[in-house]
Amino acid sequence: MSEGFGSLLRCPDCDLLQVLPPLPRGGTARCRRCRAVLARRRRHGPENAYLLTLAAAPLFLIANLFPFLILDLPGGEQSSRLLSASWALLEHDMPVVGLLVFFLVFLAPLAVLTVDLLVLGPLSHGRRLPGAARLFRWAEHLRPWAMLDVYLLGIMVAYVKLRDMASIEFGTAFFAFLATLLLLVAADAVLEPSQVWERFGRQTRAALGALRSLGGLLSCHRCRQVLLPRPPPPGQELRCPRCGAVVHRREPAGIARSWAYLLAAAALYLPANILPVMTVTFLGETRTDTILSGVHELALAGMWPLAVLVFFASFVVPIVKMTGLAYLLVSVRLGRGAARGARTRLHRFIDYLGRWSMIDVFVIGLLAALVTAGEFATITPEPGAAAFALVVVLTMLASASFDTRLIWDSPRGTDDRRAPA
Ligand SMILES: [Zn+2]
Ligand SMILES: [Zn+2]
Repeated sequence: MSEGFGSLLRCPDCDLLQVLPPLPRGGTARCRRCRAVLARRRRHGPENAYLLTLAAAPLFLIANLFPFLILDLPGGEQSSRLLSASWALLEHDMPVVGLLVFFLVFLAPLAVLTVDLLVLGPLSHGRRLPGAARLFRWAEHLRPWAMLDVYLLGIMVAYVKLRDMASIEFGTAFFAFLATLLLLVAADAVLEPSQVWERFGRQTRAALGALRSLGGLLSCHRCRQVLLPRPPPPGQELRCPRCGAVVHRREPAGIARSWAYLLAAAALYLPANILPVMTVTFLGETRTDTILSGVHELALAGMWPLAVLVFFASFVVPIVKMTGLAYLLVSVRLGRGAARGARTRLHRFIDYLGRWSMIDVFVIGLLAALVTAGEFATITPEPGAAAFALVVVLTMLASASFDTRLIWDSPRGTDDRRAPA
């Protein structure tokens, strides 16, 4: 590594202070202690992300306006819109889940898309709107909750479940939705937040040799700017000069919040699995399904890949998340020093996996929206679905509240000098 100046960064996962040399085009810098991705260099990243998002915006509108899925049932044709799953849940007296689905497949994606356009557009021309940094920070926070990709999997599962019941067609909106999703995934792949932050305000630079004396610097957990731990004006909190986030050395009360969300999720896990999630009436026959009987049903119908997918997303993942998080919380409480890298990777894995458990909630909403042909065929969501949706949300919040930097705090405190150079 050269002895020149580089970007000064604290790893967001393990808090190691390091100097990043200038990256080659297309290069990725990883933390030398925990292997977290610190920065990627994308050619014209913000510009390309802007263009892709701009192309996605009208398609997202089309996806919401036109018929999405059309189902031909003995009792008549049923046409649904993208958001019908949300309305169906609201109509069946499940306001919390209905609003949650509305938030995950409409409000959050719309908000992220709008902010990206408002921030990246002017930024590509060297300008910025007032408050743009704050907006972008907020959008970064919201990104995991924009669940169009998970929704697509839900649509696929619903489609396969309905195929035997009736003929089903994809409407214009479905293809617009697919195109929106592809463009947004591509935009996400080229958008490198550190490049956006760099344009809002330069990352602090330092020479490698200065690391020792800079050990006391704080890092903003949102935009990763490093700053001097100056005492804030009386009655105020220390704020990041670049993105405006409140800066703490460690997330205050993160452990307590994480435990609270985790325990609430654990308490709801049993009802989520015991209570029925939906009632299916088809040609005079009525049966109720729990999450596991739904999986069993898929397996009996010979749809093994889907049965395995739903079993993992709805049953295994919540258990892995809850036991994994409980283990992380206990290990931090006990001040364990072993397997820090593995524990950090475990948290990254749990954090990534969390949102995919939402599939079943989307499937139930979609089925309830599509199958409403009276005595011939009706699917009604049941309370188990609400309990399950809350388990997913609560475990996501529990995982987000856990500050992985605590794993690296040895009982004697962090020690940057011991890190390999
Ligand atoms: Zn690290
Ligand atoms: Zn910041």
